[in-house]
Amino acid sequence: MKKHDMSFETKLIHAGYDSGEFKGSLAPPLFQTSTFAFDTAEQGERRFAGDEEGFIYSRLGNPTVRMLEDRIASLENAEAALAFGSGMAAVSSVLIALTNAGDHILCSQGVYGCTFGLLKMMEEKYQITHEFSAMKSKQQLLDAIRPETVCLYVETPINPTLDLVDLTMVAEVAKEKGISVIVDNTFCSPYLQNPLSLGCDIVVHSATKYISGHGDVIAGMVAGSKERMAQISMTTRKDLGGVISPFDAWLLLRGLKTLAVRMDRHCDHARQLAKYLSNHSKVEKVFYPGDVNHRDFAISEKQMKQPGGLISFTIKGDKETAQKFMNELNLIKIAVSLGDAETLIQQPATMTHAVVPVEERFLMGIEEWLAPIICGLREPGRHPKRFRSSVYENKALTRIERNKKEDVSNCLYKKQV
Ligand SMILES: *Cc1c(COP(=O)(O)O)cnc(C)c1O
Repeated sequence: MKKHDMSFETKLIHAGYDSGEFKGSLAPPLFQTSTFAFDTAEQGERRFAGDEEGFIYSRLGNPTVRMLEDRIASLENAEAALAFGSGMAAVSSVLIALTNAGDHILCSQGVYGCTFGLLKMMEEKYQITHEFSAMKSKQQLLDAIRPETVCLYVETPINPTLDLVDLTMVAEVAKEKGISVIVDNTFCSPYLQNPLSLGCDIVVHSATKYISGHGDVIAGMVAGSKERMAQISMTTRKDLGGVISPFDAWLLLRGLKTLAVRMDRHCDHARQLAKYLSNHSKVEKVFYPGDVNHRDFAISEKQMKQPGGLISFTIKGDKETAQKFMNELNLIKIAVSLGDAETLIQQPATMTHAVVPVEERFLMGIEEWLAPIICGLREPGRHPKRFRSSVYENKALTRIERNKKEDVSNCLYKKQV
């Protein structure tokens, strides 16, 4: 079967690996090696000169890592892909490879906290400037693009406000201007959104999240044209050296097999939780792109297969109220990541976005009492009562009832049960 004939679900399991080439081994083999021996000195010379295909040294390429790269390329409908030792190694390798001193990067209004830190560092050290734009219309984009703008850097959905950017529109403007579009697709995974198919040029992922799916690996991926991937591979990846270990690549190949079933569950869970929270008197506002009242609902319908496994909400109160609520949770863990089996909650203003200055945070819409929940894989349940207890945890509930504590989480539990 040719690669492009495979369904997405089949690619998750089979793309990039042929057991026949490896003694029938059903699971992809782990090539845990730093280097590769040449048959002869002349062969070494040919490999270094690029006259002969083959592995040289694992920072330049490794068979297990290559299997992962081929699989991700196939899932993102890309010509090629590259694996990295973290999402930030992927983001930094792309941005440094694409820019020179004096260039300008136009970003969506809200990027991952460390991407924000990287942009600041590039500006301070190398005079590569950046600016944020809500990217809500063609005109808004055209007004913000400068002669020295070399790329558009987009996150959609934007964490934690879950605003969306219309990728087809952005790609059209970029094409007109002859600049590239980079999309951080971490929150969607290749299952929910494929930016390259919408006309964008480069996709990056923190593979730590949905691609791994099990909270035990830090890794990153980049996908795009063969030419662009070769350039990044032979410059920033080779010389900055943010490579992935073969073992982590092997774990990602394993995690990917269940991506589709995991994403369906994450999305179901989010759908039900969003509905529950929207009807709650102690909840001020729910941010969920699957809600018909969400301002970017139409974009989510257009470019995402499902609205994702993340929802944010604000609690009526202040920073402390939100912290108190989080402290009462038991099985929902206070942790910063996403895509794991466990359901997680965090406070962006004091955690992931603490490095972002208050004024910028205000522009991004990040209030101190905003808390995103990353929906895990526990059975959301069809029956409302069972759903509530699975989300809000019987144990925490009885403890609060017994103590008759009058705080917001108490009210949240009590009202519904
Ligand atoms: C986590 C994350 C990153 C950084 O990835 P690491 O694997 O932690 O280095 C980048 N972008 C987004 C959207 C993320 O969620």
